[in-house]
Amino acid sequence: MIQSIDHLGIAVRSLDEAIPLYEQALGLRCLGREEVESQRVRTAFFDVGGVHLELLEPTAPESPIAKFLADKGEGIHHIAFRTDDIAEQLKQASGAGVRLIHEQPFDGAAGKLVAFLHPKSTRGVLTELCAVKPGAEAAH
Ligand code: ZN
Repeated sequence: MIQSIDHLGIAVRSLDEAIPLYEQALGLRCLGREEVESQRVRTAFFDVGGVHLELLEPTAPESPIAKFLADKGEGIHHIAFRTDDIAEQLKQASGAGVRLIHEQPFDGAAGKLVAFLHPKSTRGVLTELCAVKPGAEAAH
């Protein structure tokens, strides 16, 4: 079952340039940074009343974020929903005719399992499902 919006992913060219915008213009505090090798990105997290902003900077030209920046420029990249059962959630989406980018969840940022639904199946919104790994508390 979907429990909440977990975070919004925002593609940026540079964390070092983007973080001060959120800190100085909005008064938010960066909770930390993390590199996610599987996605070839560096992330920075902000907490906004329990929903996180996840800034995403590519670490390699073949990063999905590098491709997104080249196609569309900086901006909102994805919305992530937290679920208590990611396998069941993927099964439900697939059963409803949604194309899955990942059939199986994988390790994402903040100690979570993640999987993505294809934006062509979700009205143009890249949709992430995420769940706290069994036996682990989310780091962020
Ligand atoms: Zn995400």
